[in-house]
Amino acid sequence: MSPAEFQRWGYAVIDWIAAYHQRVESLPVLAQVAPGQIRARLPADPPSHGEPFPTLLADLDQLILPGLTHWQSPSFFAFFPANTSGPAILGELLAAGLGVQGMLWATSPACTELETHVLDWLADLLGLPPAFKSSGPGGGVLQDSASSAALCAVLAARERATGFATNESGAGGRLTAYASTQAHSSIEKAIKIAGLGRANLRPIEVDDRYAMRPDHLARQIEADRQAGKQPCFVCATVGTTSSNAMDPLPAIGRLAREHHLWFHVDAAMSGTAALCPEFRHFQDGLEFADSYCFNPHKWMFTNFDCDCFFVADRATLIRTLSILPEYLRNQATESGAVFDYRDWQVPLGRRFRALKLWFVIRHYGVEGLRHHIRRHVAIAQEFTQWIAASPDFELAAPRPAEPGLLPAPRRR
Ligand code: PLP
Repeated sequence: MSPAEFQRWGYAVIDWIAAYHQRVESLPVLAQVAPGQIRARLPADPPSHGEPFPTLLADLDQLILPGLTHWQSPSFFAFFPANTSGPAILGELLAAGLGVQGMLWATSPACTELETHVLDWLADLLGLPPAFKSSGPGGGVLQDSASSAALCAVLAARERATGFATNESGAGGRLTAYASTQAHSSIEKAIKIAGLGRANLRPIEVDDRYAMRPDHLARQIEADRQAGKQPCFVCATVGTTSSNAMDPLPAIGRLAREHHLWFHVDAAMSGTAALCPEFRHFQDGLEFADSYCFNPHKWMFTNFDCDCFFVADRATLIRTLSILPEYLRNQATESGAVFDYRDWQVPLGRRFRALKLWFVIRHYGVEGLRHHIRRHVAIAQEFTQWIAASPDFELAAPRPAEPGLLPAPRRR
């Protein structure tokens, strides 16, 4: 495709996206197709010769659109918010247009340095402890990419070959980990992949607000120690997937510190709320955390994929993940003066994700982001009141609030 053609069809694609966003509300939210229906309409073989670009766009409308569930529809209420925005889409497009690889500082210094800078901004904007900033012992990094898929494939192959023994009982079976019964399944998956063994992830009971009970956690750790196990990891959630419950970080953090557990805080869904100072109390106790993550690709107007991962001690993370073959050696790395983000993630290669996040923050500005978050929370609060007042519906879980502000949910 020549630059002139690219320009022409690029405008057409942007026009298409703009029109899609304008009409998405009028489309049925759920895909209206039966399994196999989309594939049945696709040609059996790829074209031998290139096709005109307008044909591709026409097929997008006719073949693909009917098979989409419209996550950007204002009427989409499934799973979790996955909102994108104009600046994020344009930042993503630019990242694709630049096509740089940010695996090392040396492979594209601006890619690394913008990422470090934007994550430091976010650490401040969210009120994270200073240890999570690059000027301290820790720092932030954007996750995640296609090499994770390769990892999953390799692990699946290993498990099939060993009859799934490692998934069930772990490497040696001595290490134990802890998360509430409401923690996201990704924690269990991580335990499985890391070889700790699913059986060594202890589900900790929750209270009537679906928040982890630290007394149960303490008892389970003690029981495991008595049984000769080695507790090594605990995950607390700020905003659980099913009910937006908030685990009590200070109590969990103190236990983690007392027993030398790595304390991870998963705020994937609700961490964005901390942009507003009045919602930050949910993350009191983060000073105990070894790591923290939240997803701008859920609630911060940034298209998938974009997860911000912060660690309090980057040396431990880098030592865990670093590997240095000859072909990656370079002066900047050896000087020790730069971050090589390949050492902060599973994959080697990495996209220029910071660009879209930078665009989002600069387009909306801090006050603009706060305005939208406050509005979303206010809408949710109003909806809660409608439910509470309705004779036909009941709240299955309380909305997060200062303890005591709302009654516990009615149980059937
Ligand atoms: N943690 C929580 C609390 C979530 O709600 C989700 C997704 O719903 C995840 C983790 C997984 O997020 P991702 O899709 O970025 O892996």
